[in-house]
Amino acid sequence: MLDMTSGNGHGPLRADVPAYAAAVEAWLASRPAAFVAAARPVASYARRVAVTSDLMRVLFDEGWARYGWPEAVGGLGGDILHRAAMWEALARHGLPAMALFEHLEILAPTLVAMGDQEFVAQVLPRFLRGEERWSQGFSEPDAGSDLASVRTRAVPVEGGHAITGRKIWTSWARYATWCLVLARTGTTQSRHRGLTAFAVDLRSPGVEVRAIEQANGTDELAEVTFDEVHVGPGRIVGELDGGWRVAMHILAHERGTFGWFRHSFLYRQLFDSLAEGSPSPAGDTLLGDALLDLAAVRASSHAGLRAHAAGTALGPAAAFVKLLPAAGEQAVGDWVLATDPDLAVGTQDDDVAVRRQDYLFSRIVSVYGGSRQMQLDTIAKQILRLP
Ligand SMILES: Cc1cc2nc3c(=O)[nH]c(=O)nc-3n(C[C@H](O)[C@H](O)[C@H](O)COP(=O)(O)OP(=O)(O)OC[C@H]3O[C@@H](n4cnc5c(N)ncnc54)[C@H](O)[C@@H]3O)c2cc1C
Repeated sequence: MLDMTSGNGHGPLRADVPAYAAAVEAWLASRPAAFVAAARPVASYARRVAVTSDLMRVLFDEGWARYGWPEAVGGLGGDILHRAAMWEALARHGLPAMALFEHLEILAPTLVAMGDQEFVAQVLPRFLRGEERWSQGFSEPDAGSDLASVRTRAVPVEGGHAITGRKIWTSWARYATWCLVLARTGTTQSRHRGLTAFAVDLRSPGVEVRAIEQANGTDELAEVTFDEVHVGPGRIVGELDGGWRVAMHILAHERGTFGWFRHSFLYRQLFDSLAEGSPSPAGDTLLGDALLDLAAVRASSHAGLRAHAAGTALGPAAAFVKLLPAAGEQAVGDWVLATDPDLAVGTQDDDVAVRRQDYLFSRIVSVYGGSRQMQLDTIAKQILRLP
């Protein structure tokens, strides 16, 4: 365990990412029990949540997961490059996926940048430690690509706001304590100008979470309804009517820096299936495509990480960084299926079941965080300035 009290452990590591990465490597090489348990393939989603949460607790208690987050809200300082190094090392040592902690990297940077700091200092350590999870309540049945059409309403009431509406495709809501809800505080016509982001406690009266069972057998997605759910002061993230800025900050992470975290695990999946051997010359082509795509993700998301660490906004270029991991994930899925066509056949074996889940999930990665067409639209209009 690092010596947190004297600063001997975390002072130098906060300033020196390679030294931090080497220390994480050495710790993982000792094969901590919580890591070994989380690295084992587990088909049950609820079980995966449990073992990943255990690993997050140990990573937090050992100090590793606190790097990259400000000290004022429970971190040990440093920047996103620390987090990138930790997730890459975990993947390289055999962790199959970030699972539900993907939302940590999607939501926590925005909570830290725009949330009420007293509230964030309470919730971030519990999020980092795997005690509480967060979900992202943006999409609605009639507001997906056209996010400015959000209808969920937040009306002022004594001591805060009351939220009423319905969110869909809310990842991890079934396992989450909190949901960052985008709700309308302006007029119906106000579009993106009249939205506010609220941190809503999913244990509040009036919240109902219904899991959606996916084709790959997991219950990662859910529908969440809010019936006059009371949200107190200090729970607005960003400004009143400033929810669009919050949503764009989150989506820039989901599209921009997040590629790095995801690609580490895709390399893992690819290397694991290399043991199966190449099935045919056509298989070699699939493997080549997957490796090239991942190399492109690595280069572009690395640029995103460095820009973020230097305090530069990624802007519309994040659309490009979102497209590449989706293509990479589908290319890896194509290769995995080519090496093991039996993946399509039902089995109780956890290893095969997880690989099938990953394959099926790879088919929908071009939708979340903004569909492929919407990213192409952003590139066409905002980068290429096409009419
Ligand atoms: C695995 C997964 C996880 C998700 N997790 C979350 C989550 O945690 N929180 C959350 O809020 N949402 C989440 N979503 C929802 C996701 O953000 C939406 O599905 C996505 O934004 C698309 O919206 P939609 O499903 O309503 O499709 P639509 O917007 O109805 O689009 C349908 C099709 O039409 C195309 N299209 C739409 N408008 C245009 C246009 N103007 N030009 C060209 N083509 C267009 C789209 O590209 C798409 O192919 C998740 C989705 C998936 C698949």
